[in-house]
Amino acid sequence: MSETTRESMEYDVVIVGAGPAGLSAAIRLKQLDADLQVVVLEKGSEVGAHILSGAVLDPCGLDALIPDWRERGAPVTVPVREDQFYVLGEAGRIRVPNWPMPPLMSNHGNYIVSMGNVCRWTAEQAEELGVEVFPGMACSELIYGDNGEVKGVVAGEFGKNPDGTPSDAYEPGMELHGKYVFISEGVRGSLAKELIARYDLSSGHEPQKFGLGMKEIWEIDPDKHREGRVTHTMGWPLGKNAGGGSFIYHLDNNQVYVGFVVHLNYRNPHLYPYMEFQRFKHHPMVAELLEGGKRVAYGARAITEGGYQSMPKMVFPGGALLGCSVGMVNVPRIKGNQNAMLSGKAAAEAAFEAISAGRSSDELTSYETEVRQGAIGKDLKKVRNVKPMWSKWGLTPSLILGGFDMWTNNLLGLSIFGTMKHGKTDAEATELADKHQPIDYPRPDGKISFDRLTNVSFSMTNHEESQPCHLTLKDPSVPIEVNLPKYAEPAQRYCPAGVYEVVDGNFVINFQNCVHCKTCDIKDPSQNINWVTPQGGDGPNYPNM
Ligand SMILES: Cc1cc2nc3c(=O)[nH]c(=O)nc-3n(C[C@H](O)[C@H](O)[C@H](O)COP(=O)(O)OP(=O)(O)OC[C@H]3O[C@@H](n4cnc5c(N)ncnc54)[C@H](O)[C@@H]3O)c2cc1C
Repeated sequence: MSETTRESMEYDVVIVGAGPAGLSAAIRLKQLDADLQVVVLEKGSEVGAHILSGAVLDPCGLDALIPDWRERGAPVTVPVREDQFYVLGEAGRIRVPNWPMPPLMSNHGNYIVSMGNVCRWTAEQAEELGVEVFPGMACSELIYGDNGEVKGVVAGEFGKNPDGTPSDAYEPGMELHGKYVFISEGVRGSLAKELIARYDLSSGHEPQKFGLGMKEIWEIDPDKHREGRVTHTMGWPLGKNAGGGSFIYHLDNNQVYVGFVVHLNYRNPHLYPYMEFQRFKHHPMVAELLEGGKRVAYGARAITEGGYQSMPKMVFPGGALLGCSVGMVNVPRIKGNQNAMLSGKAAAEAAFEAISAGRSSDELTSYETEVRQGAIGKDLKKVRNVKPMWSKWGLTPSLILGGFDMWTNNLLGLSIFGTMKHGKTDAEATELADKHQPIDYPRPDGKISFDRLTNVSFSMTNHEESQPCHLTLKDPSVPIEVNLPKYAEPAQRYCPAGVYEVVDGNFVINFQNCVHCKTCDIKDPSQNINWVTPQGGDGPNYPNM
């Protein structure tokens, strides 16, 4: 518990994070009982500022939550018209036909959206129902009650000096107490991490797995634009170095989302995910599309990939983990937004039932049951072996066997592989640098590919420099004394924002550049970096990501 004295406010439900999960929970609570007091706290300068998805949206979550979303003007207007899937070689490509793909891989009925805009619109719907939505309010601390239950959060603390002491402009923030506290911070949230450790929520489950997703928005030549086209690729340039692949989604207004995901269980610490993304854009198929266009935005975010077997226990005394704080992405579909929404709805229904019965601060077990046994669990269970197959056997066998496994799950509801394990964490998967060759990456040309810092300026990222560095090191000596000799300090390469450098034998953290992707917290082989939230309003300011 914090020692600073703060004002407190009482709510029925306090929700951390205005992503699809948190906002859906807020809306459902107010739909069920307009008198419930519900608050949503968001660290971004506005709702949507930190949201980064592809995104092809499966509207099933929205259908369940706001059935008349079309009439209400949801920014979900570009239906998917065409699905393409390619395996790339350095200069060539092979189109994988759609017919052998299991039906769940089809994007028919889905939409290409800006999830940032969808969240902005969803927040308006929530506010119309009376939810209090506060952007610019980072939740930096959990408050525990006398019986070890979560009682609330501290939000809105501003004005600390770099050494953590209060400056003249210090504002202590507020305590927001709730009968239940929902943690919907998305991937690798700092409060979720604390809760998972404190209540041992991962016990009995596989470790969570992650990818790093990087994305640019391009405005391209109208002659090349095909509104509604969805293209996915695998293969080059990653080859055997890492799992992952790309997405190219043609939204409206001649804009295209170009994205690249690198699975973070790669072994070679010389791998440079950002440069793999830049190299990918020089494939003839992609370069031809982008030539003459301009990149208008850049961002990056980790994505959960552990799926069904990695979901930790998601309830604890006084609250619940929602959406990607649990990890609900269907990996072969690259879709998690629908499950995030459904989880918010399910958590709200469990909390409403509990509060109506006069309960508070206990475990919402009916929420966990609904997630595991309901639509979310069914969605994730069918594809549970795709990621472990890919990690163990590589791209081609996993395409064939993973496809077969998804078919048997789809048709018969069973897998001959059972439930495969993930094994190591992504940090543990990193091997010693001297076991691997450094990788020579071509220099960005400034037209199709860009250096990292130039691209970061297109994320509109900003952090007040006079605050403590939010990328904390458990032991400041580890980067130079352990990570540099053993792993060639991979933070210099895995960070998609160029936050970490080794300069004259010193480890430098340019925290101002941090885009809040959380990759460092996940991939540091020594698990020495702890990402904590900076003050509210800081970080990227994504437009229509
Ligand atoms: C590159 C990429 C491509 C993807 N493509 C797709 C796709 O095409 N389709 C799809 O369905 N899914 C896709 N996903 C997955 C999808 O983005 C996630 O499943 C979804 O965002 C999860 O929603 P959420 O609400 O749990 O978390 P988020 O969307 O991450 O929202 C969490 C919110 O909480 C805020 N927050 C975090 N910590 C705090 C704190 N301490 N205090 C206050 N606020 C906080 C964040 O700023 C953020 O606004 C993609 C993901 C990535 C990274």
